[in-house]
Amino acid sequence: MQQDYLEISGLTVSFDGFVAVDGVNLSVLPGDLRFLIGPNGAGKTTLIDAVSGLVPATGSVRYGGHELTGRKVHRIARLGVGRTFQTATVFEELTVLQNLDIAAGHRRGPLTLVRRRKGIPEEVERALETVGLAELVDAPAGVLAHGQKQWLEIGMLLVQDARLLMLDEPVAGMSAEEKDETGRLLQRIGADRTVVVVEHDMDFMRSFANSVTVLHAGKVLAEGSVREVQADPRVQEVYLGP
Ligand code: ADP
Repeated sequence: MQQDYLEISGLTVSFDGFVAVDGVNLSVLPGDLRFLIGPNGAGKTTLIDAVSGLVPATGSVRYGGHELTGRKVHRIARLGVGRTFQTATVFEELTVLQNLDIAAGHRRGPLTLVRRRKGIPEEVERALETVGLAELVDAPAGVLAHGQKQWLEIGMLLVQDARLLMLDEPVAGMSAEEKDETGRLLQRIGADRTVVVVEHDMDFMRSFANSVTVLHAGKVLAEGSVREVQADPRVQEVYLGP
């Protein structure tokens, strides 16, 4: 379990001299459902982009006993790091099963993909159950409700055996029921994985976060339980103004 520990130190990302992430230190243990909040432009998305290798960064990101900074995106993914984007990136014209297959294929290689037509592989079956899409296995992803597409995307990370999942605003645009469903899903998958959720929805955070890191202007402003960060005057100032 300890090998799933995420430890970020001194992480810095600059765009043409503008420092979007500024010396961030952040540690997340498996089983800790960590929410990353902060006003627009605080650097939340850039931070998870840097961990997943999408933007160059300095400093250190250690996960699973490996240093991630400087590695290529696909190598980082292969070390068990998965992330979703604000807009779901499923293949709309393919079925739920085909989407999961493609994701699993990235891990298993094309040979297994051919073999699996005889039946649904165990890890795909498990992911379908976990994300609650077992009954929609043959539906084209394009007909899924907004929430279901996000869950499919999470399922795609599970079949890739992602052990660190970073989700960018997973409940944006969801109904209240879908949000609750998503919260319970995150608790299930977060029980033995490392989950980082970038979120604007404060009610959702209050209901489901185990711990919270508040970013402001690229720096960690506060960290702790929901209660602790909410009571922090610096956090109130950032959100509500002086
Ligand atoms: P958040 O997710 O907290 O809203 P972002 O990480 O998206 O914030 O952005 C942090 C800051 O970095 C913003 O000021 C944004 O304009 C800037 N930024 C993000 N990506 C780029 C980029 N590719 N080029 C230049 N500036 C960027």
